[in-house]
Amino acid sequence: MSSPVSTTPILRFAPSPNGYLHLGHAYSALRNESVAREIGGQLLLRIEDIDPQRSRPEFEQAIYEDLAWLGIEWVEPVRKQSQHLSEYEIALERLAERGLVYPCFCTRGDVAAAVDKLAAASGSWPRDPDGSPFYPGTCKQLSDQDKDRRVASGLHAAMRLDMQAALARGQDKIGWCEYFAGYEPRDVNAEPSLWGDVVIARKDVPTSYHLAVVVDDALQGVTDVVRGMDLFNATSLHRLLQSLLDLPAPSYHHHRLIEDDIGRKLAKSAGSPTLRSLRADGVTATEIRAQLGFA
Ligand code: GLU
Repeated sequence: MSSPVSTTPILRFAPSPNGYLHLGHAYSALRNESVAREIGGQLLLRIEDIDPQRSRPEFEQAIYEDLAWLGIEWVEPVRKQSQHLSEYEIALERLAERGLVYPCFCTRGDVAAAVDKLAAASGSWPRDPDGSPFYPGTCKQLSDQDKDRRVASGLHAAMRLDMQAALARGQDKIGWCEYFAGYEPRDVNAEPSLWGDVVIARKDVPTSYHLAVVVDDALQGVTDVVRGMDLFNATSLHRLLQSLLDLPAPSYHHHRLIEDDIGRKLAKSAGSPTLRSLRADGVTATEIRAQLGFA
């Protein structure tokens, strides 16, 4: 999958420790393992634990145990995002220096109220691929004085990407090499304008998933990203951030998602059976591999 100039392809499996792994995670980890084997690559493990509210040490421990039980091997050391916040901060500063981010003091309620008003006036309001309404730009208009006053009064700000400014830099002509099913490589045009002014750094941590993932993939030398189809559209945004930060572009393979009996994507929130519960019920790792198509 990777370019002929790179020596050893690098892949990564990057779960978030906010619940126990389910069959969807197992599929993704096994897909990474099988692609790594096929292309002679190394598989890294990254713990995406930037969310202090949802990440828990017992879930992290369970990731190591469940992957080992499945027979997945990864190259040490494991990278834990919570230990690298200053690296994301540096990337954020680079975007800020280029005038590509702005502080946003809005609460979710503020955004929802502003969007309701705009939607009522114009009949509809755009949403991003995650289903979140485009940010209506309330804080984009704030003067420096207003911003200072809010910070002085103790308000915390998230940082949002100024999508218009980012696209105006000519970064909209970007794409990536996607390996579709069967590993047929094809060039895909990125469509970052599908996303509005997304949060690039949250109020409580100096990054977001989108920023951390591109910084990490670059710092870890990841050449081949293998992850679920649910992140296909996020890749447009990731390619934009890579381009703005002068980071290399990996190849991508967005694999199919594992669904439950009634066709819903497996999710922690939907109560999908976890690998540990299957294990407790006597299911073996070999059976799980076979069920997911990895003999
Ligand atoms: N941490 C993300 C998740 O658990 C995966 C991110 C990625 O592979 O880029 O869904």
